[in-house]
Order: sequence, then C-alpha cells, then structure tokens
Amino acid sequence: MSHQLALITGASSGIGATYAKQLAARGNDLILVARDAARLSALAQSLHEAHGVEVSVLAADLTRHEDLARIDSELRNNTRITTLINNAGMTVEGEFIDASIDQTQTMLTLNVVALTQLSHTAAQVFRSRNAGTIVNVASVLALVNEQANGAYNATKAFVLSLTRNMQRELAGHNVRVQALLPGLTRTEIFQRTGRSVDDLPAEMVMEVDDLVAAALRGLDDGEAITIPSVEDMGLWHSFEQARGAILPFISLNKPATRYR
Ligand code: NAP
Repeated sequence: MSHQLALITGASSGIGATYAKQLAARGNDLILVARDAARLSALAQSLHEAHGVEVSVLAADLTRHEDLARIDSELRNNTRITTLINNAGMTVEGEFIDASIDQTQTMLTLNVVALTQLSHTAAQVFRSRNAGTIVNVASVLALVNEQANGAYNATKAFVLSLTRNMQRELAGHNVRVQALLPGLTRTEIFQRTGRSVDDLPAEMVMEVDDLVAAALRGLDDGEAITIPSVEDMGLWHSFEQARGAILPFISLNKPATRYR
C-alpha cells in the first residue's frame, strides 16, 4: 500500500490512531480527521518524523453538517486519496431505554449518517477510477441482541449490512471493501462513557495494535469480513449459509400455513 493516501476518520485515538501508525509504517501518506485538532497535529508530526510520510490534519465534528460536508468534499475532490478508513464512532452510557435520547441521536448521526455519506462518496469516486479501498468499522455487536446498548448494536448492524451491499455493488470495479468487526478492544471508547476497560474480562479484550494488525492482514488477504478473534471462520460461513437458507421463502404470495 505504499505511495497511497488514506483518509482516516476518528484518527485521534484508539483504533483510528493505530491505523494511522500502522499505515504510516507501511509508507502511506495520511489525512487525519477527528475533533481534537491538537491531538491530531501531534500524531501527524510524530508519524512524519518517524516514517517520512506526509500527514495532514482536518479537524471536524462529523455530527455537524458543515464539517461532514467539508470532509466529504475532500474525499470527492482530492484525487490522491486511495483509501477511506471509516472508523469514527461512539457509544452512549447505559442500555437503550434508559440512555439519553439526545446522545443516542448524536450516535446515530456519527455511526450511521456520517459513515453512510463518506461510504457513498468513496464508492462513487473509487468506482469511477476503478481503484480504491474502503474499510468500514462495524463491531461484533452487529451480531448481538443479547447485551449492550441496542441502538449502538443496531448502528453496527447497519454498517455491516451497508458494507455487504456495497461489496455486491462494487464487485468487478476493483474497489476493495472490508467490514471490520472488532470485539472488545482496549481504547478510550469505554472511558468516554464513564466506564473502565479494566473492569471487563481480560480474556475478552484485545490490544489495539493486535486488532489493527489483524485488520490490515485481513485486508491484504482480501477478506470481505474480518473478525479478528475468530479462529474458525467456518463459523462465519455457517452463519451466512443459515441466513441464505431462508432467502427463497421470505417473500411469497401467500402467508405460511400457520396463519391460515
Ligand atoms: P475511541 O478511542 O473513543 O476513538 C473514537 C474516535 O472517533 C476518536 O478519534 C474520536 O476523536 C473520534 N470521534 C468521536 N466523535 C467524533 C465526532 N463527532 N466527529 C469526529 N470524530 C469523532 O474508540 P475506538 O474504540 O477506537 O472506536 C473506533 C471505532 O471502533 C468506532 O466506530 C467504534 O464503534 C468501533 N469499535 C470499537 C470497539 C472497542 O471495543 N473499542 C469494538 C467494536 C467496534 P475526537 O474525540 O478527537 O473527535
């Protein structure tokens, strides 16, 4: 991926900052996007010094319409951009019913609206160039109804579904599209909602360097879905097969016999 230019959202901490470090080490130039301009600038300078790559900073709150439009326009008009890491995301404190609805709506704007806008633009421009890479950061919670905040899980199910459909639409256009489904990963996402990652079962928490290294290895290997901790990807294929088994029956011209 050398001599490429990656735009990374949510690059000031956690998974996004780690993508920045690992892509810079591979020789990629970078555009870093998040709200905290000082933090982005410090990271940009250290990556430039360590790896000699060009790193620019675009401070933006992706829940603000005009900021999102500015990043979207960069993605559309900067023809050097070859990769989008659509990573910025947040969660909210508590389960769905008791969580603040204002915070929930902000989360929907960031995790769904902003990600969709940038996915749409990247898909259009990369398709027109017959080249490019899009990584959409979902979560294993896309597959989970049993725990966590239901609205957060639903935003990640949205990301997974959107990304799978983009893979179908972009097949044959030489655009790589990867859905990354991290499990619990040691980042700031927990402390941002007043929790501590140290309270979680240690055997379930991956170090962020390992997570991103696995994600990039999965991308190199052409994986459409990367779930870094799953040893047996046959489990994912069985899950997909079971989903496929119902498809011939989900839209027919008569109700099932149990309803007659
Ligand atoms: P993190 O350390 O909290 O990083 C979140 C990043 O998003 C930060 O750079 C933050 O920077 C940025 N961000 C937050 N609100 C923003 C906004 N309104 N506009 C622009 N940027 C914003 O969390 P993380 O764990 O690395 O999360 C990255 C992605 O991984 C998210 O999509 C998350 O849902 C997903 N994920 C995380 C885990 C996990 O266990 N950590 C598991 C599965 C999926 P600023 O504060 O500077 O804006």
